[in-house]
Amino acid sequence: MENKKAGLARFFVEVSPQQRYNRIMYLLFCPIVIFLFGLIVGSFLNCVIYRLETGGSFLKGRSFCPHCKHKLALQDLIPVFSFLFLRGKCRYCGQKISPQYPLVEIATATLFLLMAEAKPLSIETGFLMVISCFLIVIFVYDLKHYIIPDKVIYPAIAIALIFNYLSEAKVGDEGFAFVDLQFSILSAIGAAAFFAAIVLVSRGKWMGIGDIKLAFLMGLILGWPNIFVALSLAFFIGAIMGIGLIIFGRKKMKSEIPLGPFLITGTFLIMFFGNKIMSWYLNLFLLK
Ligand SMILES: [Zn+2]
Repeated sequence: MENKKAGLARFFVEVSPQQRYNRIMYLLFCPIVIFLFGLIVGSFLNCVIYRLETGGSFLKGRSFCPHCKHKLALQDLIPVFSFLFLRGKCRYCGQKISPQYPLVEIATATLFLLMAEAKPLSIETGFLMVISCFLIVIFVYDLKHYIIPDKVIYPAIAIALIFNYLSEAKVGDEGFAFVDLQFSILSAIGAAAFFAAIVLVSRGKWMGIGDIKLAFLMGLILGWPNIFVALSLAFFIGAIMGIGLIIFGRKKMKSEIPLGPFLITGTFLIMFFGNKIMSWYLNLFLLK
């Protein structure tokens, strides 16, 4: 005990303030902590999605099983682990728990980890983490309900505008693209106008108003020409998935496939692998 204390004291107390700061930061931002933090945030996002579906407030009230409404105890709420331990079933009624819960938690944690790895300890990383939370909620909600909720997309647009206004960062080395306010607004308007034209031509059959708002948000986050490549990627992945679903008989030619999840996949791909994808894409069309 005495030795342990001495060890801790050596680690945090008997060092210079600068060293102490570095060590605390090191612990706070080590990959395991970031990942665990992502799991907890993902768990909260599941809660947000559920409350969006049922119309309750997501800041108050305790978590409960959606089937039997039994209040969940602490040991039922541990991200991923509770799901594995309970083998995907509610402890109280035995009904299946949706795999959405662990999947959203793992996805959030993985995205946070990738962001922290690419640009550790920066305001951009914090902003991207916040924006990615909104994108994850939109992804799941659109996939399940074919709707992009205004309650989620408008705050996300507001945050992206505020960040772009405050940020002086330019297109990043790692493919994180932040552009100045005017430029990002122009990119956003361009993307939204393009989508609005498609909505008008197809009379809302190919995509909806929600997709226009999401394209606007993507323009704000990515800027030009990244937004263009992200949209191309989204359509490309969407087309392949759509054809696959039709071939394997999961969807009919005329059935609706939400576009939001593909747009968000394109956004994340450009965020993380922007430079590589961009140079490949531009080379492909001999634009460089
Ligand atoms: Zn239950």
